[in-house]
Amino acid sequence: MRCMSERGAITAADLARATGLARSTISTALSELRSARIVIEVAQSMDVRGVGRPTSVFSLNPKAGTCIGLHVGLSSLRLIVADVSHAVLHHDEIELGLDYTPQAAIRKARVAMSEAYRRGGLSPHSLLGIGVAVAGPVAPDGRIQRASMVPSWAGVNVRDVFASAFDTAVFADNESNCSALAEMIWGAAADIDDFVYLKIDVGLGGAIVVQRRVVTGAAGAGGEFGHISIDPNGGLCRCGNHGCLELTAGFRTVLERMSHRRKKSVSIEDVVERAFGGDLDCVEAIAGIAEAAGRGLGIIGSILNPGIVVVGGAGAAAGPLLFDRLTDSYERHTLLKRAQLTEAQRLRIVPARFTTDGSLMGAVALVLRGLGALQGEG
Ligand SMILES: [Zn+2]
Repeated sequence: MRCMSERGAITAADLARATGLARSTISTALSELRSARIVIEVAQSMDVRGVGRPTSVFSLNPKAGTCIGLHVGLSSLRLIVADVSHAVLHHDEIELGLDYTPQAAIRKARVAMSEAYRRGGLSPHSLLGIGVAVAGPVAPDGRIQRASMVPSWAGVNVRDVFASAFDTAVFADNESNCSALAEMIWGAAADIDDFVYLKIDVGLGGAIVVQRRVVTGAAGAGGEFGHISIDPNGGLCRCGNHGCLELTAGFRTVLERMSHRRKKSVSIEDVVERAFGGDLDCVEAIAGIAEAAGRGLGIIGSILNPGIVVVGGAGAAAGPLLFDRLTDSYERHTLLKRAQLTEAQRLRIVPARFTTDGSLMGAVALVLRGLGALQGEG
């Protein structure tokens, strides 16, 4: 089940290969799981040579259970419903305005959830748990820290309030930690034990993964790369400190400047699209962000010396406009240069699989992992 949950639809032969179990064991387990309707046959495929008997392809029965992933953002709540094979069955975004309360979020989430289950013909009894990704540090016990970016949630134990409101298992973590988990299980870092996740978005977020564990630190602020203070004389950051990295390596400053000049709200998607269309101002804005993020990666490199950095967030959609300068800037700010290193020692900077929905997929992964359906820390 764990293998199916991670890989999706799979044949019995591939299951045997992936788990190391004997074909007979797999076949017995499959027939038991099929009679319990936990596993279903989804298709038949010919083998690669196109000869011989068709082979059955199995997957977890989507109706065997559903999970909800929630993202508590600065001014909105996003929600997905996924089945146990992590296929997304429903997606919703609810605008709540700045500094909404947990009670408002719970009310809206309840309405959105019942509507999603009704429309999808899903039983509410299939709900296995809720994962919550939060735009701010979350302590290991589920408490949102005072320094949180969602002020009215500060001090709230997000696990407790959702668990009592929805009477189900609830798991919570910081949004970038969730994104890193999604990349580790289903994305760009599958099968990689140690990596750094960097989210270049309106702000700058991140996560550190060591031995397939997301390192959250004593109070949940591990990997908050955006708030590395690099200039004591720099501008005021939304966290209250001065000169944080995200002032130059996140899109917020650029978006505010462009929105002011164009007298309308400009998004990261707008900047990326204009940059690809040859707008020099946007190309330079992205290059400036990449330059600053590369400098930040240099600092991270001196602390952790990662072999791989997975870059997600809406900014990653800028592709080579971002990645080329990021790589170049890192090279100028790191101690050991490429020429000194072997291929295996060189940092690889790769795009994330999940760009904008990574934290939601990670919230689903929190549930599946927490309930033992995925490998990793519990
Ligand atoms: Zn800050």
